Amino acid sequence: MKKRTVLALSFVVVCSLAQFAIAKVPGVPEGVDGATKGIVAVSHPAAAQVGRDILAKGGNAIDAAAGIQLALNVAEPYMSGIGGGGFMLIYLKDQNKITIIDSREVAPAKVTADMFLQADGKPIPFEQRHTSGKAVGVPGTLLGVAEALDDYGTWDLPQVLAPAIELAEKGVRVNWVTADYIAKSRDKLEKYATAAKVFLPQGQPLAEGQILVQPDLAKTLKLIRDKGPDALYAGEIGQALVQEVQRTGGTMTMDDLKAYQVKEREPIRGMFRGYEVISMAPPSSGGLTMIQILKLMEGYNNQQDGFGSVTYLHHLIEANHLAYADRAAYMADEDVYPVPKQGLLHDDYIKERRKLIGEEKANSQVTAGDPWRFDPGRKPEVAFKLIDNSPVKQTTHFSVMDKWGNLVSYTTTIEDVFGSGVMVPGYGFMLNNELTDFDAVPGGVNQVEPGKRPRSSMTPTIVLKDGKPFLAIGSPGGSTIIASVSQTILNVIDHGMSIEEAIRAPRLFSSEYPHVSWEAGIDQDVILQLMAKGHVFAEEPTDIGNVQAIVYDFETGKMYGGADNTREGTVLGVDAIAYTAAEPPEVSYEAGGPFAISVNGQTYPFLAEQKLVAKGIAYVQADKLLLGLGAGSEDFRSDALTVNGTEYLPVKKVAEKLGYAVSWDERARVIALNK
Ligand code: GLU
Repeated sequence: MKKRTVLALSFVVVCSLAQFAIAKVPGVPEGVDGATKGIVAVSHPAAAQVGRDILAKGGNAIDAAAGIQLALNVAEPYMSGIGGGGFMLIYLKDQNKITIIDSREVAPAKVTADMFLQADGKPIPFEQRHTSGKAVGVPGTLLGVAEALDDYGTWDLPQVLAPAIELAEKGVRVNWVTADYIAKSRDKLEKYATAAKVFLPQGQPLAEGQILVQPDLAKTLKLIRDKGPDALYAGEIGQALVQEVQRTGGTMTMDDLKAYQVKEREPIRGMFRGYEVISMAPPSSGGLTMIQILKLMEGYNNQQDGFGSVTYLHHLIEANHLAYADRAAYMADEDVYPVPKQGLLHDDYIKERRKLIGEEKANSQVTAGDPWRFDPGRKPEVAFKLIDNSPVKQTTHFSVMDKWGNLVSYTTTIEDVFGSGVMVPGYGFMLNNELTDFDAVPGGVNQVEPGKRPRSSMTPTIVLKDGKPFLAIGSPGGSTIIASVSQTILNVIDHGMSIEEAIRAPRLFSSEYPHVSWEAGIDQDVILQLMAKGHVFAEEPTDIGNVQAIVYDFETGKMYGGADNTREGTVLGVDAIAYTAAEPPEVSYEAGGPFAISVNGQTYPFLAEQKLVAKGIAYVQADKLLLGLGAGSEDFRSDALTVNGTEYLPVKKVAEKLGYAVSWDERARVIALNK
């Protein structure tokens, strides 16, 4: 995947963010004229255009969101669509109401709790189970969109479908993101052949600049236009769908489709520094975990500690560990098992949990707390455990605001890129593999059960200030979603960044001790100091999430947006602002060099240019080595070697003085330090 920041530039980014002054309304960029008649922030320009046009023609935020979702099914068919599910968070200005349209996939009636286990009782390897018909949940997106329109929209389904049909028939230009994902998903697409015909015509992946035309999908959308959602939930599209699911190993039937129900839910609400943060309720773990992180972080002076500082990031990582431990233990489909929603966000509980964060060292012993003590509800009689974490997923999020002040924050998914890889033959849309969000091993609140919704991490969020709309935000990224959304909100409210800066600022993800993934742009010295505290950073950066957000300047009535550049994120206002994120340069992160250094089993992110070998002795740039080992320089002055004005220290000698056992793996060229 493309990396967003070249390392050489990253230090500049960090410095300028630190100096940024707090804007009057947080998140609002300086010197940009905002929109007043509506705005969208979407991960694909063609779908953004559809949303903007609906707003320009007088549609409301819900109409635009419906149009965007259907257009995304065509323009970004590998991320979301009528074969999947999602959560649409809606703020209705007039009624001062926030509601959720939950169109999450559900498990078919014939599933069993052990269906993802092999004969030996171990989980079927993820690679296998995520491309099986067994992983396909009963999809909800089409019904969700239709019900949202019926209840809160002003347009009807045929109207919002028209632009999507046109895109499917005329074609969408393949952008770098689509080309990249198709190339990377080749094996999955070839597995069941149908999808390969669309995305790998003549056996070759579609390349950037080619036109993706989808006649089968156009036919499907026209059937829905003419016959309504029943064409899928009780008609020929549904029949083809269940037939293909059964052919690929699943049990779904027409009865499952007919039984599907969209649920309207109450969101989770919590206060953070005087802002009301309103987010997704169970079956998502997103809202509770994200608000827990914010509340834990509220106990620190983050602005003073500074974005990107050791202190701030240490607190952030530790807060994440605490919140994610509770997520694993207590959060699942609330319609099946009660969730201690009040306890998890109770001020006394948060205070108690925050005490587990020490200043000096990473806490290696974090486990879930007991929020039931702070909750009036009833504890379920089921073990709490999360087993077999699956890899990070990617789907999509978009945000919309209309001229009346209504907001939509919508995270929508087919779970994995290209979902299960199963496309409905003759109907041209991909099916989800959402059931892999259940625990593969039975015995916990998130085990597979008929009619149940798998635990999600999706975190569509709306933030209000004194009852006025302020922010609509969300991200894809599986369990990393929660980290992306919480960090972007902290960047806006605590660090005073504009929404665009807040999105571009490097993020990190760590759900449990000690591993941390991170985006390019976090200062290497900071990483080394965090490693000295016990946080184990990956050797190289990666991309985390894809945030699209709208910010509303409630003082002036102007609307702004921020779009992530890990895709062609696009912000379009009806009367001002038109912006598409440019493809970021490939990162040139050269860990490499003549040798690697691993401390207690973890390779440290020293760069090639920071290492040298002189007379058979391995040296590392002095300040970097000492930061990473948490040592002062005094004791080692006499060992230093100066080359071109830079001091280097001999790794073995320094490490031994600090009490490490040092060994050299000649074949792997790794110096291993162990204590
Ligand atoms: N299946 C994931 C979840 O519900 C969503 C994947 C994503 O949006 O990145 O948490």
